[in-house]
Amino acid sequence: MKKHFVERVQNYIGGQWKASANPEYVAITNPATGEPLGSVPMGASSDVDDAVKAAKAAFPAWSQLPAQTRSRYLFDLRNLMEKHYDELLSICTQEHGKTLEESKGDVRRGIDNVEAACGMPAAMLAAGGALEQIANGIDCHSVRQPMGVFAIIAPYNFPSMVPFWFLPYAIASGNTVVVKPSEQVPFSQVRLFELLHELGLPPGVVNMVNGARDVVNGIVENKDIAGVSFVGSSPVAEHVYTRCGATGKRVQALGGAKNFGAVMDDCHWDKSIANIVDSSMGCAGQRCLALSVVIGVGNAYGELEKRLPEALAKVKVGNGLEAGVTMGPVISARHRERVLAYIEKGQREGAKLVVDGRHLKVDAYPKGHWIGPTLFTGVTPEMTIGHEEIFGPVLCVMQAKDIDEAMRIVKAHPLANASSIYTQSGAHARQWCKEVDASMVGVNIGVAAPMAMFGFGGAKGSFLGDLKAHGREQVQFYTQNKTSIMRWW
Ligand code: NAD
Repeated sequence: MKKHFVERVQNYIGGQWKASANPEYVAITNPATGEPLGSVPMGASSDVDDAVKAAKAAFPAWSQLPAQTRSRYLFDLRNLMEKHYDELLSICTQEHGKTLEESKGDVRRGIDNVEAACGMPAAMLAAGGALEQIANGIDCHSVRQPMGVFAIIAPYNFPSMVPFWFLPYAIASGNTVVVKPSEQVPFSQVRLFELLHELGLPPGVVNMVNGARDVVNGIVENKDIAGVSFVGSSPVAEHVYTRCGATGKRVQALGGAKNFGAVMDDCHWDKSIANIVDSSMGCAGQRCLALSVVIGVGNAYGELEKRLPEALAKVKVGNGLEAGVTMGPVISARHRERVLAYIEKGQREGAKLVVDGRHLKVDAYPKGHWIGPTLFTGVTPEMTIGHEEIFGPVLCVMQAKDIDEAMRIVKAHPLANASSIYTQSGAHARQWCKEVDASMVGVNIGVAAPMAMFGFGGAKGSFLGDLKAHGREQVQFYTQNKTSIMRWW
């Protein structure tokens, strides 16, 4: 099955594929089958410096092209991504482990963002402002201008999509970019950069540097980078945010999540339970929008206790390339150990382990990093599993006597990425949307993912910065305002 994988991942700098300056490579395997896929360099800050040099050299000519000319490359990119859609799904599933259906979400959202950026010249970018006669004989014009080189740093859980939350808008705005994919899942971006190469973009407009921590640190310390778009865990988001501030860069840092859902007794039970299972178990719980805790309000708690075990038993765990499989493995043996440690802690701290996924095996794939759906009830906010991000297929159920108590639990948490409510009551839904801190809120929707034309990003500790990913806000992030005040004698 192994297709479309390069043996040794290279960097893409100034329109050419180049080996990293760091000779240390790490092998990558398919997390479901254990099959070796290739290896990735750990990278060096000198790789970043080379890529930034190429991006900086490309900026003057690229930023001077008419916005529509730049957008035309994106129309071509969109068509190439459609043409290679099935191949991109297959790469994504093989390197990450998620099911093909889930890979569709990953790749499709990347395409959605390319499409949104195609519309920038007319709809957003060109829309500056002007006001004549602000004083006698004086007019005022305001335009948004590109800034230079931007870097994009990605996590492992959406190998195809996350860099494309940023890249299309950055280059359509007239900037040049350096992308740092996750070292755990580099192959989707390698394939996407092969497609970018086919577009015939001027060399240096898009660059990719592979690696881990040294590459990130090379990015945040590089003085020629104007800004950084980061997505990953909150501790690294804080590090990137702090260093970017210290070195005078713009930054948008999307961090970790602990997403709470409230379940009211008046919800549509069958549909809500199916939706909660999909939200918490989809991508094996490795989604920043996954519901990690559901709070049963009043009688809803008992109903959740009754219905969830039965629904979780229907989840079919296996190789995501195979039909009928609804949940894949977690990303690595190390991450599996981390999730198992949380489950043990949950038990030790007094939560009731109702469904235990620790011993699940998939006979055909003994090397897979398997964890079955896991359910705890009787969880409290003080327990480790009640407040830390687990990022695995573990659903925690808490209890609240009314919606106000549920709201207090949610608001006390330092992270606020996404939140959902399941109810048929408009009043309850309205209260939740209005009062909850999370900035991506679902009503009867467990994965509250804004489409490409709306801002994507959380609040409180889940997001450091000002302007969110996607859409109009993304254009503001990648451009700076210039106002000219003119008088003609
Ligand atoms: P991570 O923080 O470990 O890695 C993210 C990036 O930072 C990677 O490119 C990695 O190479 C780099 N990195 C890791 N450790 C570093 C260090 N010590 N110093 C410098 N750079 C470092 O995150 P992950 O495990 O790849 O992804 C999962 C996390 O991402 C979860 O916390 C999840 O909630 C979060 N996430 C958030 C969003 C969002 O929209 N807020 C979206 C997707 C994922």
